Amino acid sequence: MGFESQIKEALSELEASGLLRTPLRISGPQGPEVLIDGKPVLCFCSNNYLGLANHPAIVAAAEASLRIDGVGASASRLITGTMDAHREAESAFAEFLRAPSAALFSTGYAANLGTIQALVGPGDLVFSDALNHASLIDGCRLSRARIHVYAHRSPSDLESLLERHRAKGRRALVVTDSLFSMDGVTAPLAEIASLARAFDAGLLVDEAHALGVLGPNGRGLAAAVGVQPDLVIGTLGKSFGVAGAFVAASEATVSLIRNRARSFVYTTAPPPMLARAAIAALELVRDAEDARQTLLSHAGALRAGLRKLGFDVPDGESQILPVLIGENDRTMRLSAELLERGVFVQGIRPPTVAQGTARLRLTPMATHRPEQIARAIDAFASLRTAR
Ligand SMILES: *Cc1c(COP(=O)(O)O)cnc(C)c1O
Repeated sequence: MGFESQIKEALSELEASGLLRTPLRISGPQGPEVLIDGKPVLCFCSNNYLGLANHPAIVAAAEASLRIDGVGASASRLITGTMDAHREAESAFAEFLRAPSAALFSTGYAANLGTIQALVGPGDLVFSDALNHASLIDGCRLSRARIHVYAHRSPSDLESLLERHRAKGRRALVVTDSLFSMDGVTAPLAEIASLARAFDAGLLVDEAHALGVLGPNGRGLAAAVGVQPDLVIGTLGKSFGVAGAFVAASEATVSLIRNRARSFVYTTAPPPMLARAAIAALELVRDAEDARQTLLSHAGALRAGLRKLGFDVPDGESQILPVLIGENDRTMRLSAELLERGVFVQGIRPPTVAQGTARLRLTPMATHRPEQIARAIDAFASLRTAR
């Protein structure tokens, strides 16, 4: 069989198992309502939790930067690329997280890939939560350290793995999401942090979905529970409404990352415009207490409303609501039916989640109005009868 036919066969296999993904086409900016094929629908699947992706102050900061800094960063930071905008963003985010230093990356994916690989290698160990984000898993693999996967959110399993294996490695790093993006549940950070300390391991916490939403001034779950991890990963494409990511840590750790992280060294620096947009977003996020409350109360209303209709929505307190369906086909059919009713909710299928646990994943935004939350619940109510 020729290469092209093999590729087509792989695609047909995906389609046959209900796993073929074809992104919808959105016109105009991201917001509580988006245009799909020219038709306005309520968006309940973005990570634009605070509605900042189209905020005028952030747009203005990006526009001003375009005139001052131009568009491109021209090369890797290590060659020509460290511009004022990058430095200023790094110090702003380090200060925000009360860390001595920070490094800016083009994406959260790149940050996780490079950070783990920069800090541990062959002869070292990583201890990783079973449901960590794909970018953390890929970072662990790229590092070639020995990987020990502990049961999801289980300090006792982490402890027994540390007891059994810690002495076999030189450096060790414990790696976890803070707010898990597919279930909306949080990691037991206090217990994990004390285990990491007891076994002389570093702790990396990925706050992608928690930053901007949880903790004082939106400083994340670690700040909320009073834990100071060795490394915090924050992404700028979610609550901050921009793009990019940073790693906040000690001076020494950040220096090693800047020297060794392949996704930092061997890539063009992010456009300075994005760094300045991120600084503007940070100003807004810090003071967004009202928006955070609105977001969490929308999530509470959705959770209660859908449960009352008989949908399987697990307990939770975050802005992320999984509605467990099970089968891939049925999940995607329900997602399509909701879209027909003007409500955009994405179905999440394997390999993003485990086989047999396909789900609809709802994420409200602080900028939804209460009647829009009610309309989403009504759309689900009409599904129950239409099924
Ligand atoms: C989204 C996400 C990332 C990747 O961030 P991007 O900036 O979108 O590349 C990393 N980690 C977690 C936990 C995420 O949810």
